[in-house]
Amino acid sequence: MAASRTLSTFRLLPLPTIPEIIKLFRLQAVKQLSQNLLLDLRLTDKIVRKAGSLTNAYVYEVGPGPGGITRSILNAGVAELLVVEKDSQFIPGLQMLSDAAPGKLRIVHGDVLTFKIERAFPESLKRQWKDDLPNVHIIGNLPFSVSTPLIITWLENVSYRNGPSAYGRTQMTFQKEVAERLTASTGSKQRSRLSITAQYLCDVQHILTIPGQAFIPKPEVDSGVVPFTPLTQPRIEQPFRLVERVVQNAFQFRRKYCHRGLGMLFSEARRLESTGKLLRLADVDPTLRPTQLSVLHFKSLCDAYRKMCDEDPHHFAYNFREELKQKSEKRG
Ligand code: SAM
Repeated sequence: MAASRTLSTFRLLPLPTIPEIIKLFRLQAVKQLSQNLLLDLRLTDKIVRKAGSLTNAYVYEVGPGPGGITRSILNAGVAELLVVEKDSQFIPGLQMLSDAAPGKLRIVHGDVLTFKIERAFPESLKRQWKDDLPNVHIIGNLPFSVSTPLIITWLENVSYRNGPSAYGRTQMTFQKEVAERLTASTGSKQRSRLSITAQYLCDVQHILTIPGQAFIPKPEVDSGVVPFTPLTQPRIEQPFRLVERVVQNAFQFRRKYCHRGLGMLFSEARRLESTGKLLRLADVDPTLRPTQLSVLHFKSLCDAYRKMCDEDPHHFAYNFREELKQKSEKRG
């Protein structure tokens, strides 16, 4: 009890402001690493509050940069904060933060795309999937260049319960450009592969919009804060790779009727017949556009596709790009 009171009242030792740190270490935004920085600590506090209570939590921050969000996380009374930053220019400033928060901040100079978070925190934090949420969070103002592959990988981890999800239903809160795409509802223009993949595995909400001018340099689009809470029971109970295949193909031609993209799941010779069978089994109207398909529609499509793949495993091995390539080679 006494320990938790000490932790929750933790404050950082006095530090230069983020703009002073930028000046001191002559930091410069690198476009290739999508460095759109947040310097306003009131805003970073607000973002961090949206992640819920972080008291005594173990937090993994992706791309801390000069450390704005990092400070807000430390001030939220966490047990430990682990940050992974690729750009070496930010490491001395982060080291300064670490000195001001003894024993709280672990800095890894590395790449989030390869970092293994499942081994980073104590085993004792692990919870069963259906139990309460573990006190482990991922937070990040995601670098634009890697945000989509990163989110897809973490969603795959939710599905297979590995990576950050090895601790149980680890919550993730991201600051992401085009946050609307993650939370877009059926029929919305922003509906995409990312919306379906996020929404069949997690509860996702767009809870705060951050205008472009809050960042230095200003990005082209506004962004939003989106917390993800993994569901105890996914809305589609099929292997992640199968769902991904169906969703990716459905959105192949996003302005056309859905049968057009879904047809690409099947070899050209049997496309018409197999697509018809898939849509009949799933009871989905072939003239709906991909953006009009609900998660429930995708559930029916995935279940029907699974049935067809069980009957004929060639379906799952088929790749229309490979077929096109072979054809053009023959012609060549
Ligand atoms: N969190 C800081 C803020 O809000 O001001 C910086 C956010 S900036 C959008 C993205 C950060 O991620 C940058 O510091 C960048 O160097 C870092 N970054 C980009 N790609 C990375 C990668 N693959 N692994 C680790 N960090 C990366």
